[in-house]
Amino acid sequence: MKKIIVAIDGFSSCGKSTMAKKLAGETGYIYVDTGAMYRAVSLYCIQNGWMTETDMNEVEIKKHIHSIRIDFRTNAEGISETYLNNKNVESEIRTLEVANGASRVSTLGFVRRELVRQQQLMGEKKGIVMDGRDIGTVVFPTAELKIFLTASPEIRAERRYLEMKEKDENVIFEEVLANVLERDDRDQNRAESPLRKADDAFVIDNSVLTEKQQQDILKKLFVEKTTSN
Ligand code: C5P
Repeated sequence: MKKIIVAIDGFSSCGKSTMAKKLAGETGYIYVDTGAMYRAVSLYCIQNGWMTETDMNEVEIKKHIHSIRIDFRTNAEGISETYLNNKNVESEIRTLEVANGASRVSTLGFVRRELVRQQQLMGEKKGIVMDGRDIGTVVFPTAELKIFLTASPEIRAERRYLEMKEKDENVIFEEVLANVLERDDRDQNRAESPLRKADDAFVIDNSVLTEKQQQDILKKLFVEKTTSN
């Protein structure tokens, strides 16, 4: 079986990472969550005071972008966690504030160029499943398997809301839905690498699919691509 690159793109909170992690686990591929990388940059900017709810200090961010090191390490339970300059930030990057900052910081061309460069290095040897917004279009335009995952905004917000509630976070549904809609709008309409489906991507709308049905579709496509010439 040949080693390939699997690129999974799509809207916020439609289960890209669940899908990607599962496939990576089953196939022994490396999983890379590129959203976590933009979130880590966002956290770094917030911590250093370069990003507030209303402002973004592009000059300072640009000056420090090359001193931001992001990597993923597997914990004792086998779960991949995000590290920012050698510090585990996995839970800190999952807040709404950081997500919102990530969607803003990801509009900056110099941030995207640096993270894309790091992502391309990670995929040099193939055998990788990467999820994000621009993986099939910009990071790996020649990826052998491209998926574009989508679901209705209400369904995505509900999933996210339940996930946050489970972690005892104090959230209200309307806020989560507003966050999803705002991020969709920014992702699709930014000048730099806007979210769009690659021409050769397979679309999976999981609004009405179970996780198992979705995974079966992905696995079938994966087998087809790794066994074809
Ligand atoms: O996927 P996740 O919600 O964690 O991503 C956080 C934010 O990072 C997204 O809202 C999106 O704006 C940005 N992002 C991006 N390109 C990627 C991955 C994420 O612009 N490849």
